[in-house]
Amino acid sequence: MTSARALRGPFDYLLPEELRGGAVEVGSMLVVPFGRREVLGVVVGLADSSEVAEKKLLAPLRALELGVPGELVELAEWIAAEYCSTISRALSLVLPPGAARRLSGRRRRAVAPLEHLGVGARSPHPPALTVEQEAVLCSLEADLAERRARRRLLHGVTGSGKTEIYLRAAATALEQGRGVIVLVPEIALTPQIVGRFAERFGDTVAVLHSRLRPGERYAEWRRLREGEARVCVGPRSAVFAPVGDLGLIVLDEEHDASYKHEGDPRYDARDVAVERACRAGALLLLGSATPRPESVERVARSRLPSRVDGRPLPDVRVLDMRGECSGLHPLTAEALADVRSARGKAIVLLNRRGWSNFLSCRSCGQVWSCPHCDVALVLPRGGGYVACHHCGHREPAPNRCGGCSSMSVARHGAGTERLQHELTTVFDDGGFPVFRLDADMVGAPDGDPVGGLLRSFGEAETGVLIGTQMVAKGHDFPDVTLGVVLDADATLRFPDFRAEERTFALIAQLAGRVGRGADGRVLVQTIAPQARSIVHAARHDSDGFLAGELERRRMLGYPPFSHLLRVVCSAAEPHRAQAAASAVRDHLEALLQGADGDPGVRPVVLGPAALFRLRDRERRVLVVKAAERRPAVQAAGEAVRLVAGTRDHAGVSFSVDVDPQ
Ligand code: ADP
Ligand code: ZN
Ligand code: ZN
Repeated sequence: MTSARALRGPFDYLLPEELRGGAVEVGSMLVVPFGRREVLGVVVGLADSSEVAEKKLLAPLRALELGVPGELVELAEWIAAEYCSTISRALSLVLPPGAARRLSGRRRRAVAPLEHLGVGARSPHPPALTVEQEAVLCSLEADLAERRARRRLLHGVTGSGKTEIYLRAAATALEQGRGVIVLVPEIALTPQIVGRFAERFGDTVAVLHSRLRPGERYAEWRRLREGEARVCVGPRSAVFAPVGDLGLIVLDEEHDASYKHEGDPRYDARDVAVERACRAGALLLLGSATPRPESVERVARSRLPSRVDGRPLPDVRVLDMRGECSGLHPLTAEALADVRSARGKAIVLLNRRGWSNFLSCRSCGQVWSCPHCDVALVLPRGGGYVACHHCGHREPAPNRCGGCSSMSVARHGAGTERLQHELTTVFDDGGFPVFRLDADMVGAPDGDPVGGLLRSFGEAETGVLIGTQMVAKGHDFPDVTLGVVLDADATLRFPDFRAEERTFALIAQLAGRVGRGADGRVLVQTIAPQARSIVHAARHDSDGFLAGELERRRMLGYPPFSHLLRVVCSAAEPHRAQAAASAVRDHLEALLQGADGDPGVRPVVLGPAALFRLRDRERRVLVVKAAERRPAVQAAGEAVRLVAGTRDHAGVSFSVDVDPQ
């Protein structure tokens, strides 16, 4: 008898004779009758008996040839518990790509094997390691030789040769006959690391890439599942790659917020990687130039303090923007002009949150905001309309105020488009092109606009690349000599305990893009020139920053000294959201009482506090701070179930976010 939990579930099915005897195991995928339809089920357990009478049990119709590895089913169960989700939702993370679609009767097209990003010939000859790299690799090889679950943080400045270490460690794991997963923040932004793995290891590398067509993704998944490919490179979802006998997980740019998944389950690939490595007895190697305070506190650290080519990190100069009225500081304008006349390259980073374009009425001050979400509508240049970045609402750009009928509408901020326009007008005399990298380009449905744009900038003789956070990530353009951060403190103005960490990383990462082939410098425009994160970043002092940040977090009881959990209650009317949040809070406090014994670390429930309205839903948030994660997650899940189950709170929806970002 088989207890199979389908995409919903759990449901019991009776295994027919021909599927018994080992053909079906945990992870097998079965087509089962479900009501009047056929659905795909994943076997989560085999049992000798069922609470359902045998006569009533239906039999699966057939088994798919390739199921999910049993260990991934167990990992999904762990995720469901850890992130307050359901087993069926968690299982959907580990299913082969397009599983549901293939069931729906459409024949799978024959798929050509993926061309490996046109990297050309495989070159198995790595450079000789530097002394520093040698020392790091040596300790990693000792870890791998033990074949036990281990974690290590590789804290190396940008350009210090971390990727070379990943490649060597991967080679060692492969020699041991074990598989490797390499996680990167966003493939479109990090084609170089994929290229380097493919170049070193050839066809044994599979790429699980969100831009692949479904058939291609499945083909790559299958190569991994069948052991034909032994190395998987991909973004956070690749932590679920079906790599057997896993020996190593590399997690590059471990500070990157994209490792947190914002759908349900709200998993964090960094924590899932810890769990998976633990279960597989694998080494987890986290790498970053700006590691999270959490990792520095918890994980054994190896350092690469200097760049491979011996070049110094670029000079960083902080420019005080208080009292400046133009968007560009005079020194920034001058530096850009210098780069132009030297026919060099520059990168300009806009801290997006401070630079959105919005409209307000000059007479009454009204700001045009989204009718469904309490946020300002953003005005793309030349679009003739205003749009909401949260829900996609669009309306024509107004020419008079609805409140006071004034005809005078003011534009604020300078989004990337407007900056591109300004820079183009000021600098582009035809010979200094402006390349704009836009958030909308990531995840665009067709083509590879981000890759294309980065390639054009890389190949251009001269020019300036502008964009938000994305321009600071991972690229390697040897001829960039100037980096500019505009409105560096915009991230600091957010009520988020990670604000300092984010601001520091932003500046340090941009500095990492600059001066890789020649001397470079970085200008940081800010109205908070004394901010700790900015001062330390300007000195390239990550130790000083981390020490101060850990101290601050210890004092305030933030992670890594506690775990946070967010419960959001949303409803059509504010009083309903408020009432539900208060009820959840009461249950939570009762449930958490007595947990964590020690009064110093007793869980705290904060809120309810109002969040801005989103998609016509009024929202209230509770924050739980607790020393132990599991009991807090269980209490939150229980409290939500108790409240959601009552009539009083019908129509309210709840979401629980463990370790919110
Ligand atoms: P990181 O990942 O730390 O930013 P990379 O691994 O990209 O640094 O290294 C920066 C550059 O130095 C790359 O072009 C890489 O090929 C090169 N490199 C790395 N290690 C060595 C080495 N031991 N000898 C020569 N070049 C190296
Ligand atoms: Zn008005
Ligand atoms: Zn909206």
